[in-house]
Amino acid sequence: MKHVVMFSGGIGSWVTAKRVAEKYGTSDLILVFADTLTEDPDLYRFIVEGAANVFGMDIKFDFSIPNLVSGTELDAQRGHRKVAIRDMQVEVAKRIPGLTWLIEGRDIWDVFQDVKFLGNSSIDPCSLVLKRRFLRAWIRASFVPAIQDMIQKRGVTLSSQDAIHEAVKIGIAVDNKVKNIIKKANRSKSPEKERLLAEAEQIKLPILEAERSVADELRFYIGYDWTETARWDKAKRYWEPFQVDCPLVDPPLLHKSEMLGELRKHGIAIPNLYLLNMPHNNCGAKCVKAGHAQWYRVLEVARDEYAIAEQLEQEWQHHCNSSNTILKDRRGGSTKPLSLMEFRQRWEEFPDAKKQSIQAAWVKNFGVLPEELTAELQSLGIDLDDTSGCGCFSGV
Ligand code: SF4
Repeated sequence: MKHVVMFSGGIGSWVTAKRVAEKYGTSDLILVFADTLTEDPDLYRFIVEGAANVFGMDIKFDFSIPNLVSGTELDAQRGHRKVAIRDMQVEVAKRIPGLTWLIEGRDIWDVFQDVKFLGNSSIDPCSLVLKRRFLRAWIRASFVPAIQDMIQKRGVTLSSQDAIHEAVKIGIAVDNKVKNIIKKANRSKSPEKERLLAEAEQIKLPILEAERSVADELRFYIGYDWTETARWDKAKRYWEPFQVDCPLVDPPLLHKSEMLGELRKHGIAIPNLYLLNMPHNNCGAKCVKAGHAQWYRVLEVARDEYAIAEQLEQEWQHHCNSSNTILKDRRGGSTKPLSLMEFRQRWEEFPDAKKQSIQAAWVKNFGVLPEELTAELQSLGIDLDDTSGCGCFSGV
C-alpha cells in the first residue's frame, strides 16, 4: 500500500506526514506538493526542510526565489520566478526522492485569464486546475494501468512530465462529454432524460473502474484537523473511489500553535505567513477564497504583496473586459463587486487609532476583534467576520 500525503505547505500537512511516517514508516510514503507558483517564497523553504525531516534527512534550504514587485515588469518577473522554481524542483527531486513536486506550469492568475473567470470565495478554478485536477491526473498517470495504457497509446512516455498533462486531457475529454449529455438530459423529458443520464454514467465508467482497480493499493492523507471535519467529508466524496484519511481529526487533538511548536522542536523555522498571523500558508496568503479578514491582514502586514494582487486583479479585469472582483460587498443583503483597490481605499480611510486597536486585538486574540469596530467596518462594506479559507483539496 502506498501512503500519499497531500503536502501543501500548511502546518497541518507536515504534522499529518509525521503521523503517517510514524505509523507506516517511510518506505511507501510519498509526499506530493502541487505548486500553484503563487506561493510565499518561505513556503518553499518549509516544503524542502519539512519533507526532508519527515524522511529523516537534515537538509537546509539553499535556494533563492526572486521576490515580485508590483509595476510594469510584473509579468516578466513572474516568468523568471517560474523558471527559478522549476530549476529548484529539479534539484530537490534529486535530494528528496520521496517528495513529488508537481508543477502544472501556470500560476493562479494565468488560470483566471485562461478560463476568463476570477476566482472568489465560492468558485476556485485555481485550485481545481492547479491542484485537484492535476493531482488526480498524476495519480492516474502514476498508478492506474488502464490510464497509463491510454497515455502510452497517445505516444507519450509515462516517465515524462507530459504524461500528467495527457492524463489531464483524458479526464477533461470525459468530463466534457458527460457535461454535454447531462445538459441535454436536463432539457429532455422522460424516458429520454433517463436514457441520457444512463449514457453519461456509462461514459464515466471506464475511468472509474480503472481507478477502482487500484483503489485498495493507495491511501491519501490531507492535513485537515478536528476543526475541519466538514472539509474532510467533502474531500472523501471528491476523491472517490480512493480512500482519504485525515489523521489530525484523531487524538491527540492539536491546536495550530501546538503544531507550530512541534515544528520548532524539530529545528525547522515557522513559515513566514504563520509568523504574520495568517490563518493559512497557501498562495502567499492572497487566497481568492479567503474572506475580508485575511485580505485585511495582507493589507496590514504585507502591503507589497497586496499591491501585486491589486495590480493583477486590475489586469485581469482589463484582459477579460469584466468588472468582477475577488471580494464582494455584501451590505444590505445584496452582493456587489468589491475590488482590492476599493477595499484598500476604504481601509485607509478608517481612523488610524481604530486600525491600531484592531491590529492589537488580532495579534492578541487571533480573529476575535472588538465588536463595535467590526460593526463600524461592516458599515463600510469591510467584514472582518468573513474568515473563509482555502480547503483546496476538498472541491466546492
Ligand atoms: S489557496 Fe486559494 S488562491 Fe490558492 S489555489 Fe487554493 S483556492 Fe486558489
